[in-house]
Amino acid sequence: MLGRSHVTLAGATYLSLLVHPLPTPWGALAAPLLRPAAGDGPLGPDELALALSVATVMLAALAPDVDHGGSAVARSLGILSRAVASVAERVLHHRGPLHSALAAVVAGVLSELLGPQLGVAGLGLLVGYGWATHVLADAVTACGVPLLWPLWRRRLRLPYGLAPPTGGRVEALTVLGTVLACVWWGALQVTA
Ligand SMILES: [Zn+2]
Repeated sequence: MLGRSHVTLAGATYLSLLVHPLPTPWGALAAPLLRPAAGDGPLGPDELALALSVATVMLAALAPDVDHGGSAVARSLGILSRAVASVAERVLHHRGPLHSALAAVVAGVLSELLGPQLGVAGLGLLVGYGWATHVLADAVTACGVPLLWPLWRRRLRLPYGLAPPTGGRVEALTVLGTVLACVWWGALQVTA
């Protein structure tokens, strides 16, 4: 799946959950927001917190593809990010451990620990959310992902005949359909 598809899916699902939390048997699934680590903190107005939260989710949705030298995140910081991606691809392989539920949890925990250094709380949930949307979206492809690595190394994937080719028209329509569903879900709350 293309980087722009991952960014769009993460942003759209995040905003729809922000407007209209999803009821589950375990309570409402609501979108997390960045907040000051202590007191008023450096975040300032709600609009800034919202913008930074959306940006964090979208960037995190690109991050798992650091295991692929040709990805958007590998090209993001020039030679530095290319070097990191090259090592990650050689050691971990594309769509390897970084495309698992464990990687999303680890990225979230590390970000949560980093958050107070940046003066914010809630960073871990946002990074974990964006990372998880990437992994789940890549599961709906022919290559799939090792979702439960290292416990279960089989890949979660669609059969070859059903999976849309990367960057093709079906992928674009799938993303568009998801965005429309998110708009519909958010509108339900606004019009309620
Ligand atoms: Zn990926």
